[in-house]
Amino acid sequence: MTSDAETKMRFLFALRSKGVTDPRVLNAMEEIDRGAFVKGLFAERAYEDMPLPITCGQTISQPSVVGLMTQALELTGRDKVLEVGCGSGYQAAILSRLARRVYTVDRHRRLVAEARLAFDALGLANITAFTADGSRGLEDQAPFDRILVTAAAEDPPGPLLAQLRIGGIMVLPVGQSDAVQTLIRVRRLETGFDYEELRPVRFVPLLEGLGKET
Ligand code: SAH
Repeated sequence: MTSDAETKMRFLFALRSKGVTDPRVLNAMEEIDRGAFVKGLFAERAYEDMPLPITCGQTISQPSVVGLMTQALELTGRDKVLEVGCGSGYQAAILSRLARRVYTVDRHRRLVAEARLAFDALGLANITAFTADGSRGLEDQAPFDRILVTAAAEDPPGPLLAQLRIGGIMVLPVGQSDAVQTLIRVRRLETGFDYEELRPVRFVPLLEGLGKET
């Protein structure tokens, strides 16, 4: 077996052992090269189950967390998805294999520009990336079947709840930015919202407004 194949096998094994069991999610994570989203020195660590630094002082999430969040969204293949916190674009790339259409936004223009290049290089044509304050959602494209937030707010932002379709699911970390946060799943029902706590996580904070370019 080549060492690349071995690295991938170990990667998938690590994902399974952390609870990523949905075969469709595992397939998508096998197919999308995380190395395409990590630059420079850290690229050789792309297949380790750890978060890594990316441009603008942000981080690409730990693969097992990407897998668990994707799994928690219960994608059907027909979904229109909003991701808040595009970062490197890795999570959006995984979503794009399992959903019909993915909109992803980040407050840093430079991250969005780099993510677009990676989407093009991998031929992922069903993702649209925008520079925007995602805490306001994406009014023009709403409602969404699924919303994934990859930065932590104290509470689920009102505009995101409002832009979730009835029957839709939103997965997001909530809590104080410098403490352990909780990943929650929100289901929009006919009559209101159902909240479920999934696991402790740690994300960078969801900040208001656009990022200063560095
Ligand atoms: N999903 C990313 C990792 C996200 S890190 C990946 O797969 O690589 C969190 C990202 O959220 C950062 O890039 C940060 O700039 C972004 N962010 C924080 N607050 C935001 C906001 N209000 N709107 C849009 N993006 C935001």
